[in-house]
Amino acid sequence: MAWDFSTDPEFQDQLDWAAEFVRTRVAPLDLRWPHDVYKPHTPEQRLIIDPLKDEVRMQGLWACHLGPELGGPGYGQLKLALLNEILGRSSWAPRIFGTQAPDTGNAEIIAHYGTPEQKARFLEPLLQGDIVSCFSMTEPQAGADPGEFTTLAVRDGDDWVINGQKFFSSNARWAEFFIVMAVTAPDAPVRHRMSMFLVPADTPGIEIDRNVALYGDPEGEGSHALMTYRDVRVPADSLLGDEGDAFGVAQTRLGGGRVHHAMRSVGLAQAALDMMAERALSRRTQGTLLADKQAVQAFLADSYIQIQQFRMFVMYTAWQIDRYNDYQRVRKDIAAIKVMTPRVLTDVAQRAIQVHGALGVTDELPLMNTLLTGLVLGLADGPTEVHQVTVARQLLRGYQAADGLWPSAHLPTRRQEARAQLDGAALPSPVG
Ligand SMILES: Cc1cc2nc3c(=O)[nH]c(=O)nc-3n(C[C@H](O)[C@H](O)[C@H](O)COP(=O)(O)OP(=O)(O)OC[C@H]3O[C@@H](n4cnc5c(N)ncnc54)[C@H](O)[C@@H]3O)c2cc1C
Repeated sequence: MAWDFSTDPEFQDQLDWAAEFVRTRVAPLDLRWPHDVYKPHTPEQRLIIDPLKDEVRMQGLWACHLGPELGGPGYGQLKLALLNEILGRSSWAPRIFGTQAPDTGNAEIIAHYGTPEQKARFLEPLLQGDIVSCFSMTEPQAGADPGEFTTLAVRDGDDWVINGQKFFSSNARWAEFFIVMAVTAPDAPVRHRMSMFLVPADTPGIEIDRNVALYGDPEGEGSHALMTYRDVRVPADSLLGDEGDAFGVAQTRLGGGRVHHAMRSVGLAQAALDMMAERALSRRTQGTLLADKQAVQAFLADSYIQIQQFRMFVMYTAWQIDRYNDYQRVRKDIAAIKVMTPRVLTDVAQRAIQVHGALGVTDELPLMNTLLTGLVLGLADGPTEVHQVTVARQLLRGYQAADGLWPSAHLPTRRQEARAQLDGAALPSPVG
């Protein structure tokens, strides 16, 4: 099969439309309402936002992560990667195009495991972009190690009763429903200890203790809840997937979610490089442009090289997902791009900040935000170190220990083997 790095012309037209639309029509929302992406829209906002969403629908670019059965165009991950690069440049763009995390992953979970009633009540409005949702897994005492989770769901007649505390439940304050991971079999091995539940936001007993803000968020704008589930009672059909299979259910959302973050990060890193290049060509010091200084040229070159490597790896991973339709099979490369994402973002953002001098660290440029996004993506959806473990484990499956004392590449041993093979072959043939 041929290698092909071109985009089909029809889709390229759509991408060109999206790039222009995001730059001229969506980016102003980032400036006007920077903290409102997940909030229920005000009537004033709806007047602007609803027509923007309609335009995206008319272009066939609404909810591009979804197949036609869920109202998306089913373009596949590779085309989604190209689109998400564009959307990654704006914090509002994913919402305007119906592809924002964590709602995309939560929609996939309900699509897979929800009852018809749950789909009608939650999936439909979620897919229409009318509501937002929350994934509630991390706990205050443990994030990366689910073996430490203690939030408990106990069967009581036809119901489940959930008790416990969760941390960093993003957008809990605006969510219409929660997907909650809770222990249902405390003595089982970790993989089978927890189950996943769909909990409507109006269920009694859900309390937000504190809306934790990311660094730099203005007071009152925190959106990552520390929250308590106190005797939260839900019916038996709130269980998503099988009892004890929270991990399986979580994978439905996490694989895709991590890849989508990486796709958007390509665009965000490229935006920082664009800023770096513009500044290098605009600012003079000691008689020359910054662009003429070798140190700055190295910043530019290293950033370009890093972004291109990252971009190709993200594309290749997307291509594999399309080809094999099996996230498990592509697990190593999904974990690898998850490791690359924060590195590329923080490296490029840091260089761009440096080239901008003092202005770079102010809130008058978006670069500190890009740096923070890089740091966040080294934690959210699992810390870098855990994904490195996944890459290494998957990688090692393709290898085996050396036979005997010396490595298989040990030169004296190999020379001896080569001598035995070649010297014997060089002997004159007895019949010749
Ligand atoms: C902006 C943001 C949004 C988030 N949104 C959500 C959300 O909506 N829902 C939700 O449930 N969670 C959410 N999270 C939480 C996120 O999933 C956790 O932060 C993450 O899993 C890490 O857990 P932790 O913060 O408790 O860190 P810990 O588990 O305490 O880990 C701290 C550090 O220890 C090291 N470490 C941990 N494990 C290992 C290991 N196995 N090997 C080597 N080193 C290790 C790493 O350096 C790691 O960064 C969000 C986080 C952020 C930052």
